[in-house]
Amino acid sequence: MPAPDSIELADQAARWRSAYVHIPFCRRRCPYCDFAVVAPGDPHTDDPADLTKRYLAALHTEIDTQPAWEPLDAVNLGGGTPSSIGAAAIGEVIEHLDSRFGIALGAEVSIEANPEDVTADLVEGLLAAGVNRVSIGVQSFDDEVLRFLGRAHTSLEAAAALEMCVPHFACGVDLIFGAPGESLESWRSTVATALAAFPQHLSAYALTVETGTELWQAVRKGAAAPDPDDQADKYELLQAAAGAANLVQYEVSNYARPGFSCRYNLSTWGQGEYLGFGLGAHGHRAGVRSRNVRSVLAYLKALESGHLPEAGRETTAEPEVERLMLGIRRSCGVDLGEWEDAAARHAGLQRLVAAGVIEMARGRLRVLRPLLADDVAATVLSLSR
Ligand code: SF4
Repeated sequence: MPAPDSIELADQAARWRSAYVHIPFCRRRCPYCDFAVVAPGDPHTDDPADLTKRYLAALHTEIDTQPAWEPLDAVNLGGGTPSSIGAAAIGEVIEHLDSRFGIALGAEVSIEANPEDVTADLVEGLLAAGVNRVSIGVQSFDDEVLRFLGRAHTSLEAAAALEMCVPHFACGVDLIFGAPGESLESWRSTVATALAAFPQHLSAYALTVETGTELWQAVRKGAAAPDPDDQADKYELLQAAAGAANLVQYEVSNYARPGFSCRYNLSTWGQGEYLGFGLGAHGHRAGVRSRNVRSVLAYLKALESGHLPEAGRETTAEPEVERLMLGIRRSCGVDLGEWEDAAARHAGLQRLVAAGVIEMARGRLRVLRPLLADDVAATVLSLSR
């Protein structure tokens, strides 16, 4: 069940202003990853220190291209691997955002960190830089699964990273479930170990095979693919265990202790406005969605020659449809607004109500079985057509 304040919080989140900063560097490219990433062996990575220096200079230039705005309620450094650039560089980015736009008092300032980067010095540096939230890319506590996922850390390093971060930050654990070869017992043990670390936040995503990745190529050649039934079992196992540990599921893939839902996430699902800086970053401001180029060379060339690194921008064509699609992922659901009457007459939605998949009450639609959120979204979409 959602936290009692979650509807209010979700409404508030739509008014928050955020900034996302993408740090693309990774020690290696994980075989399932299709993010905008720069890893050793990629073109232009012969001198990684120089590339990082140029990238950070370009990032600061991009921050200066944005007109002044209101103070930010949330800042999120994601990747790639933001922790790989070190606390000093992270501090400079945060300081620049603060001087350019202001960072509101009590704002969420979060970064993603990979376990192998977390040291006492990094923790100290992040605290000094004003970071108050860290999400650790644990993925699994099973070394076999970590090997399959091509991760650069071990389960021991993940446990040590959590031990260092939980006392100092609103600390999140990021997990992936359903890799071929991962047993239900292995997943149960991963979940138990994650919860025993007492994180304030937990995200868990099913492993997916994204087109063009190394995993996709392997599956095309006959390697085992993730099994949706196995993933459904693991999803439900996590739901039960997280609930028993007092973590509230506030979105399809996200759980938090009361008061620790991720502001940046809530804002994006609530159509809040956010600026996006860095490779492949997306922004949403004044009804316009923009996205940056995904090639690091194109990004550097654009900013080093005085141009924006945008790959495209479009005005949100159907903001109300978008609001419904994003909103139904949250446990607090979404206000049906102008569609309330049509929803009450819609046979597909009524079937979902009868099956206990959704609830429609007081003008809101709530998904009761988040595992089926995508099916619900397809039905809701037909409502607006
Ligand atoms: S560490 Fe994360 S962002 Fe980097 S390659 Fe692996 S999955 Fe992708």
